[in-house]
Amino acid sequence: MNCVQVCPRNAVEVTSIEFEDQIISIKVDHEKCSMCEECLDDKGNFCPKNLFYKDKVKSKENEDIEGIRFKFKEIAKCQGCLRCEALCPEKAIKPVIFDAM
Ligand code: SF4
Ligand code: SF4
Repeated sequence: MNCVQVCPRNAVEVTSIEFEDQIISIKVDHEKCSMCEECLDDKGNFCPKNLFYKDKVKSKENEDIEGIRFKFKEIAKCQGCLRCEALCPEKAIKPVIFDAM
């Protein structure tokens, strides 16, 4: 199932997948992110599916800043391992989990 959820901040384009009876999306908090770029590792050490990329994002003050985005269009590749949440040193990556109806 694909659906669209409203996200409180910083991720207007939230799409989600159903995974093991839960609906999961991934959100990056640009205020917490230090741009260490560890999540851009494409060798599978961070996200095994390489689902993060660098791009312009909006700050809380609505300014264009460099940030990290999640590849929402490829969310079907997300395997729900939540390594991203565990390995981000700033705890800037959070799963948004909803109970499946
Ligand atoms: S690992 Fe976390 S703090 Fe580092 S760039 Fe990625 S989202 Fe930002
Ligand atoms: S849950 Fe796993 S596969 Fe999905 S974005 Fe996070 S690290 Fe990547």
